[in-house]
Amino acid sequence: MGDRPAIYRTVGLTKSYGEGPTAVHALRGVDLTVHDGELLVLLGPSGSGKSTLLNILGGLDSATSGQAWFQDTEITALDADGLTEYRRRSVGFVFQFYNLIAALTARENVQLITDIAERPMAPEDALALVGLEDRLDHFPAQLSGGEQQRVAIARAIAKRPQVLLCDEPTGALDSQTGIRVLSALEAVNREIGTTVMIITHNVVIADMADEVIHFADGAIASHRSNKTRKAAGTLAW
Ligand code: ADP
Repeated sequence: MGDRPAIYRTVGLTKSYGEGPTAVHALRGVDLTVHDGELLVLLGPSGSGKSTLLNILGGLDSATSGQAWFQDTEITALDADGLTEYRRRSVGFVFQFYNLIAALTARENVQLITDIAERPMAPEDALALVGLEDRLDHFPAQLSGGEQQRVAIARAIAKRPQVLLCDEPTGALDSQTGIRVLSALEAVNREIGTTVMIITHNVVIADMADEVIHFADGAIASHRSNKTRKAAGTLAW
């Protein structure tokens, strides 16, 4: 995918918590380019810095040193208002826990976002993209964990963000349900071209990616490109 323009670029990105001998160095100098339209999987042991990187790229956290760009915008130079604007316009987030509003249906959970977005998809279209066209009027308690996560994905993409950042999106799900969630992420990537970054502990998931990054001790230990992507529906673990 090297012929596509970069959507993210980081140079010497570091993040430390605290100072002196007790400081935790969560990122120790990350140089990374992510190209527009890629599906990228981030692997690595717990505590290796994956979430910290994703949070900085998503404008949820600040770096200690180094730079990160989103297209031509230096994220690491934005103030709080600039970060809010960047997140609102450009970034969708999916976390391990879905954070849906229990009193609202699937459609209404997505509508909360589309009501305030600039050029949103119809909530029904976002839910259809993740295979939930038959669950529009169900409440979260009437949905399985995997279905709730797919509502969360529909909610994240309904504002048409350029990137979808996913932190352990299948971490709480069994394999069959997890695969359906991954198929939904694959559909978003393929059908509307959203760049998708997925943090996972599960090495099998790397087979559905264009790019696979292994993190270790706050740095990129390896970065490989897959010649072909496996369809999420064919993965098994
Ligand atoms: P991963 O996502 O790979 O599990 P993280 O990015 O969450 O790793 O964490 C990297 C390191 O930074 C860990 O050692 C973690 O304990 C530390 N860390 C993360 N957030 C904070 C924080 N708010 N305060 C102090 N240390 C933190």
